[in-house]
Amino acid sequence: MEIQFESESLSLNSSTNCPICGNKLITTIAGSITLLYCKTCGLYSKEEKTFLSPIEEFNRYEKHSALVDDHYVSMMTKFVSEAILPNIKQGNAIDYGAGKTGVLKQVLETNGFICQSYDPYFANHREVLEDKYDLVVATEVVEHFQAIMIEWEKMVHLVKQNGFMAIMTQFAKDDLGDWWYLRDSTHYHFYQERTFDYIAKRLDLTVVFNDKKSQVVFQKSSQ
Ligand SMILES: [Zn+2]
Repeated sequence: MEIQFESESLSLNSSTNCPICGNKLITTIAGSITLLYCKTCGLYSKEEKTFLSPIEEFNRYEKHSALVDDHYVSMMTKFVSEAILPNIKQGNAIDYGAGKTGVLKQVLETNGFICQSYDPYFANHREVLEDKYDLVVATEVVEHFQAIMIEWEKMVHLVKQNGFMAIMTQFAKDDLGDWWYLRDSTHYHFYQERTFDYIAKRLDLTVVFNDKKSQVVFQKSSQ
């Protein structure tokens, strides 16, 4: 069944405020999925009552973890060459929310980085969270955050002063249409291009790269 963005269902009755910019959220329906939308920063969120428990998430990740094929490897290689290397060419890195594949770590190491992995389900080496890094990378991670700003703050905490944080997530459009990304039950938050400017402002970061599609890089700098 096609998912339609039904603008007539917009309502201003929600009392919830945007977790990023604090402005009022409105409720919108995309097919069978109810979303909370912030007109200011562009964030879409699923309703909290639909969030999965850790056990449910683990079971789903076990069954549906990313397929490592040529396409996946070339996607990670492209991310490193387009988003990361123009900003930083070496240093200590961490693949945050690494999952099980280890592909990004491998690509970064091939390019001269020293790379750790952290994943709450598949690489729960909490000691790596004690360090600070020149580069934090998170691919297909930030859409899975439940307590969204707490999770972003945890990631930013890992970045050294003047270090970088490179994110990959599929950006939402104004018209969601029949967007597959919404249908993954472990995806809770959907960002637009401008959402990252608000996150940067909130967390004292600078956006140094934004491909308007799926990749954004921040620098942690005191201005
Ligand atoms: Zn907002």
